[in-house]
Amino acid sequence: MVKCEDCGRVFEAAELKEVQEYRGEYWGIPSFETMYYCPFCDGEAISDYKPKEMWVSFYLQDGTQNGQTIEADSIEDAERLLRDEYGKNWGGIADWDFY
Ligand SMILES: [Zn+2]
Repeated sequence: MVKCEDCGRVFEAAELKEVQEYRGEYWGIPSFETMYYCPFCDGEAISDYKPKEMWVSFYLQDGTQNGQTIEADSIEDAERLLRDEYGKNWGGIADWDFY
């Protein structure tokens, strides 16, 4: 996995946007360089990413409490992932712990 340092998204390296950029002519032959960009924001600050595992305890709008192991960088990251997963039913994080 890789992470875009510009927008903070994490994705598979295969999802990177591959662009052949023209670098001019060398000895009469057009030259291109393969560049890789973030598919979400076109950023080029891409780095290798190893997600951390964390335990998150959270509650939902319907009053249920839940807990889940999630791969995330930070508590903000975990909250974004869970909010995406639970949508309107998302409540908030009650507690968390890194492994
Ligand atoms: Zn990005």
